[in-house]
Amino acid sequence: MHSPTLVAIAAILMLVMTLMLLAAWRFNPRIAGLGSWTLSYCSGLLFSLNLLLRAIAPELLLVMLAQLSAFMMVYLNLQATRAYTGAPPLSWRQSAPALVLLLALAAYFTRVQPDEVMRYTLTSLMLGAMFLLAARTIARGGLQHYPARLLYAAICASHGLFLLFRPWLFQLGNHGLFDGSRSIAVSPVVAVESIVGVVLLAFCIVMLANERVTQALRDMADRDPLTGVHNHRAFLALLDKGGHQADRAGAALSVLLLDLDHFKRINDSWGHRVGDEALRHVVAVAQDCIREGDVIGRLGGEEFAIFLPATRQQAAETVARRLRAAVESRPLLYDGHRIVLTASVGVACRHDNEAPAHTLHRADSAMYRAKENGRNRVELAWSLAEGTAAIAQVGQTGS
Ligand code: GH3
Ligand code: MG
Ligand code: MG
Repeated sequence: MHSPTLVAIAAILMLVMTLMLLAAWRFNPRIAGLGSWTLSYCSGLLFSLNLLLRAIAPELLLVMLAQLSAFMMVYLNLQATRAYTGAPPLSWRQSAPALVLLLALAAYFTRVQPDEVMRYTLTSLMLGAMFLLAARTIARGGLQHYPARLLYAAICASHGLFLLFRPWLFQLGNHGLFDGSRSIAVSPVVAVESIVGVVLLAFCIVMLANERVTQALRDMADRDPLTGVHNHRAFLALLDKGGHQADRAGAALSVLLLDLDHFKRINDSWGHRVGDEALRHVVAVAQDCIREGDVIGRLGGEEFAIFLPATRQQAAETVARRLRAAVESRPLLYDGHRIVLTASVGVACRHDNEAPAHTLHRADSAMYRAKENGRNRVELAWSLAEGTAAIAQVGQTGS
């Protein structure tokens, strides 16, 4: 196909993709990186318009504009990947020297020693290296569970490699596939590769944004908004999964149930806001007392459950005692006051083939026993029977 037509198509697609990203950014302004990606596409649009204006504007101006817009396109793309993965942004002090060097060399090879191939090689190397860096940034953000990231990194890396090696392709290329007699910057092969790259990358960016939206919705559905731990439903689902895993591995599983003592008094004396703060504080204390694989959930009000995979009764009891002591010894500091909290904790270790929800019921009964026995203490679940009794009690009260 005629090259200028392809360049025009590339420019139109760039415009469409820019508008698409602009709309995505407008509706999801809090997704890190989306703004920079949109601006990167704006720079890409400028770059393709630049190619269309070749015959009209003065050469040096065009070369400078082309280099600047190409640099901004890949620089902003790299910044976007860093923002998306939570890496700190590159500072201008790091990036400006590269841009100044690029512009100086481009000016040199336009005015002092005009050499289009050198300019082209320069741009290709810069673009290729920056795309490869962006692919590496996303890959470092973790690819395993994220198909969109894998796709983005793969496309970004292939595009980068093509850009990096295309000057050499053109050296080979006066034999048909690459038409060296035409201006290499607007060769049909380059235009087609750019079109494919631009479209695929834009769709990957939208997929990455979608990954963030899905994650936020999942968090909203599974997390307790006050404390950030799993909510009741999500905790039960994870506990059930933990039971299956324990069965497969032939491992133990223990459950702790913690209820704050006389919490109503905290609210009554200090107000609901301090009560909320106390709940967050207790979660932070609990998180310091448990291991990485342990799972904590808020069952409701001031009641929390924790399940400890691969943990037998004795070890679970040690954790429970440590937790109770930590809650008591680390008061909530508020407005110069030390608000001492205490908790009653029930501990149950899962029996062979016991439904994990039943283990939770037994831990709950043990916690109630801790309340009856004076609060601020740990009690161990007795047996299967205690769980059965608890279920019967729940059935009777209808709660
Ligand atoms: P006990 O030692 O028997 O457990 O007494 P308690 O006062 O802790 O228990 P009770 O069930 O009587 O009261 C629980 C209180 O927890 C009542 C409610 O106001 C408070 N609460 C429940 N959810 C929240 C919350 O999200 N924020 C705050 N600030 N308080 C809450
Ligand atoms: Mg309570
Ligand atoms: Mg309670």
